[in-house]
Amino acid sequence: MAGAGATTTIRSSLFHAQHPLNQYHYAEGSAYRCDACELRITGIGFRCGECDFDIHAACLGLPVSISLAKHSREHDLTLTRLKASRWCDVCKETSHAGCYMYLCAPCNYDVHPRWWRWVVVTRRHTRHDLMTISKKNKGTVRS
Ligand SMILES: [Zn+2]
Ligand SMILES: [Zn+2]
Ligand SMILES: [Zn+2]
Ligand SMILES: [Zn+2]
Repeated sequence: MAGAGATTTIRSSLFHAQHPLNQYHYAEGSAYRCDACELRITGIGFRCGECDFDIHAACLGLPVSISLAKHSREHDLTLTRLKASRWCDVCKETSHAGCYMYLCAPCNYDVHPRWWRWVVVTRRHTRHDLMTISKKNKGTVRS
C-alpha cells in the first residue's frame, strides 16, 4: 500500500530484530501498551503489525545498561527481556514475561525502564539544588 502517507520504518536489533517497525500514531486513549515498559502508548510510537509489537519512540532509545544511584554504583543494570514475571524494586509493580526491565543479576534487583528518566533526574539533584528548594520555606524556619 504505497502512497498512504510518509511512514518511517526503522529496525531495532535490541527490541525487535526480526521485523522492521513502522512509525505509528497511537490515538489518545488507545489501548496499546508498549512491549518494553508496559505503559500505554499515545502519540508517536513504532509498531510491528505482524507480531502485534508496539513500542514508545522513547523506549527505543533506552540504553542497554545503566548505573543507578539508588542501587550500588558498582553494579550496572542491564536491559533484559523477562522470561518470567518480575517485581520492580522501585515501584513494587509486577512486570510480565516478554517485557523489559533493567536487571542486576548478582543482587536480583530489577527496575522498570520507565524509571530510567527518574534516574537521570536523581543524578542532577546536587546538594546545591536541594538547598535552593528548602529556601522557599521563608519564615517557617524553626530551631
Ligand atoms: Zn515504552
Ligand atoms: Zn514482528
Ligand atoms: Zn517499576
Ligand atoms: Zn547489584
